Amino acid sequence: MQSSISKTVFGETPEGQIVDLFTLENEAGGVVQITNYGGIIVSAKLPDSHGNLGEIMLGFNDLDSYLTKNDPYFGAIVGRYANRISHGRFVLDGIAYELATNQSPHHLHGGNKGLAKQIWTAEITGKEGQQSLKLSYISPDGEEGYPGKLDCTVTYSFLKNNELVIDYQAVTDKKTIVNFTNHAYFNLKDGGRTPINDHLLKINANSITAVDSTCIPTGELMSVDKTPFDFTTLKPIGKDIQAKHQQIGHGNGYDHNYILNRKGQELYIAAEVLEPNTRRTLKVLTTEPGVQLYTANWLDIKGKNNIDYQPRSAFCLETQHFPDSPNQPSFPSAILDAGETFRSMTVYQFGVA
Ligand code: BGC
Repeated sequence: MQSSISKTVFGETPEGQIVDLFTLENEAGGVVQITNYGGIIVSAKLPDSHGNLGEIMLGFNDLDSYLTKNDPYFGAIVGRYANRISHGRFVLDGIAYELATNQSPHHLHGGNKGLAKQIWTAEITGKEGQQSLKLSYISPDGEEGYPGKLDCTVTYSFLKNNELVIDYQAVTDKKTIVNFTNHAYFNLKDGGRTPINDHLLKINANSITAVDSTCIPTGELMSVDKTPFDFTTLKPIGKDIQAKHQQIGHGNGYDHNYILNRKGQELYIAAEVLEPNTRRTLKVLTTEPGVQLYTANWLDIKGKNNIDYQPRSAFCLETQHFPDSPNQPSFPSAILDAGETFRSMTVYQFGVA
């Protein structure tokens, strides 16, 4: 089968806006579904080692659930600034900005609506055999407190080798800060019916940005060596998740930014996951300097197909700039100048071992 993208109606907002669902299929038999509401990856069905397709992405079946339930950013495009900004405050060129403090007292994942709860304009691009889904959204100057009108484009391509490529671009008309991620919740075994503790994880990072009890970086870059945070070789996610360690306590599990051992801006293998029963694998590649490992520590919600999602039902690997970078001069800069183009790429490479 050729790669193709088809479109159906996903639902309607209370304001009467129609939201679509795009189904991306490829020659390898994988199926990914994405809506233009928040650019959410609603579903990803990938083969196991016997060729059986199975759901590996947490989410909801219908638009109404995304609109009305306490959606923890399932599969969404997160921005303008993914992760936290301390007290929602930062200074750019001597001007103090105040962002929405939607996770009091801090700013989280772009604010009250952020990019995750916007309806994006969708366009199917590319040529027959390899189409892409291009989503665009213009965030007005001052939205959620951010300076500058930000023209955002996110292009999803599902390639024939079961690689989902996420290409982010943004242009601003005034100096601003930008940090996008995708907040996919993965469970390679069964889409969230059982915990992810047995999934084997490797992260190509020797240190994390340590946080305080409110998950704001202290500025300390903590070596993972001889700590529960060491994923430098494949290790079950659940092995040390209950360890008595101050950082585990602060996150109620893993909720930390790993500093990738990368050099330069090229696509880098941030993390690799192997699910031992189905032998499904995931590699996450990115041009970003960090990746947040989040083990769904606060999850408690009924999701698609009536599955009761619980803490540890999924893991997230959120590629990103470091949390609170605008207030941490030693972290890689997340500043975007007027007229410059922000570019970032992340690839979810699905496979079997
Ligand atoms: C954050 C968590 C937060 C979650 C919300 C993660 O990216 O790091 O602290 O609870 O998103 O869904």
